[in-house]
Amino acid sequence: MTQTVSRPAAGAQKAPLPLDVEAIRADFPILSRTVRDGKRLVYLDSGATSQKPLGVLDAERDFYLTCNAAPHRGAHQLAEEATARYEAARATIGAFIGAPAEEVVFTRNSTEAINLVAYALSNAATAKEPEFRRYAVGQGDEIVVTEMEHHANLVPWQQLCERTGATLRWLGLTDDGRLELSDLGTVVNERTKLVAVTQQSNILGTINPLGEISARAREVGALLLVDGAQSVPHQPVDVTTLGADFLVFSGHKMLGPTGVGVLWGRYEVLDALPPFLTGGSMIEVVRMEGSTFMPPPQRFEAGVPMTAQVIGLAAAVEYLQRLGMDRVQAHEEALTGYALAKLAEIPGVTVIGPPDTVARGGAVSFTVEGIHPHDVGQVLDDLGVEVRVGHHCAWPVVRRYGVPATTRATFYVHTGYDDIDALADAIREAQRFFGVAPTAGVA
Ligand code: PLP
Repeated sequence: MTQTVSRPAAGAQKAPLPLDVEAIRADFPILSRTVRDGKRLVYLDSGATSQKPLGVLDAERDFYLTCNAAPHRGAHQLAEEATARYEAARATIGAFIGAPAEEVVFTRNSTEAINLVAYALSNAATAKEPEFRRYAVGQGDEIVVTEMEHHANLVPWQQLCERTGATLRWLGLTDDGRLELSDLGTVVNERTKLVAVTQQSNILGTINPLGEISARAREVGALLLVDGAQSVPHQPVDVTTLGADFLVFSGHKMLGPTGVGVLWGRYEVLDALPPFLTGGSMIEVVRMEGSTFMPPPQRFEAGVPMTAQVIGLAAAVEYLQRLGMDRVQAHEEALTGYALAKLAEIPGVTVIGPPDTVARGGAVSFTVEGIHPHDVGQVLDDLGVEVRVGHHCAWPVVRRYGVPATTRATFYVHTGYDDIDALADAIREAQRFFGVAPTAGVA
């Protein structure tokens, strides 16, 4: 097993950051609390879930205080207002990714959005409506994923294959943490029904070349699902140029509330899919003998939706738009470059993933020689530095690089150089604590 050794030129430079970190931090009350006996909270786990600015909390609270009701049900004033706010939020969130509102389906999170597509494709095979059978997956068909996927974009496809008799194939990884695309032409072939790939790896930070993958999927007539859980929060994403049929993302990773995610689908494709969950709000006519279904997006939103969360997510989107997604991306790129250089200065630290900021986002995974990642995490936590440790729901990735787990730092709009300095100091402290501090070359 080859382990990726990333050693960018040492000498971390603090270039001016595109975002005003101090002003942004003032919008996040949680960042002013202390942890572990008075330590400053250094939150480097936005990749797992982001913190929420006051505007998002206020938007949710305002909905409950002023017009709480079930949207799309009831003819009273509150229900009308709730419906208007819910649908206005759909338009705002759609515009954020360049999509019309009718292509935006609200789900609980990215995981549910991917399951929705996977179940719709297997339900299609047995749909009584011929128009829902167009994308049916069955025996002899193939689904293609990559070895880089979060379990959310892997397990649902394994399960789809088990349900339908289709075969799962995947693209592997190179030693420096990128997709192995040399066999793209054979792995994605005429039998491929759908390709599911992450735009940005949650563990390696890699940003994938979707153009090439999309072109091949188009060539063979396969659908393309892009997992945007780690890209939509951190870079401009526009579905009009993405080359995909589906894009999924989670509100809680982009300053929004938990409990709301998005499935974007090209309308023509969504319209040809049968429902996943059924019940109230998604039907046209119900008789004891059977039912007919609404067009998208309502066809995929059974039951009373997570209204306050959707409204909170629209507020998060507006917050990000005010900052500017180009600047958010540039901010994180500067931090990532600094973090890679800073870690390179610490002997015994190995970054798992691309060694530089080329096509790379702000998820920096690393190991510390002689210390288990969980122990690294524990010492960091004692010092107020909150990172994630483990396999990051991407078990095949850690297996590929021959490590049991990694320690991962992820950045966002409120992250500053001081957070990364705190991370580097804490790693050195962990080395001292476990008696593995290298004696040479240490500042
Ligand atoms: N995809 C990626 C790349 C992720 O990082 C995550 C969560 O970490 C998911 C999917 C699943 O997101 P959620 O748990 O919000 O459904």
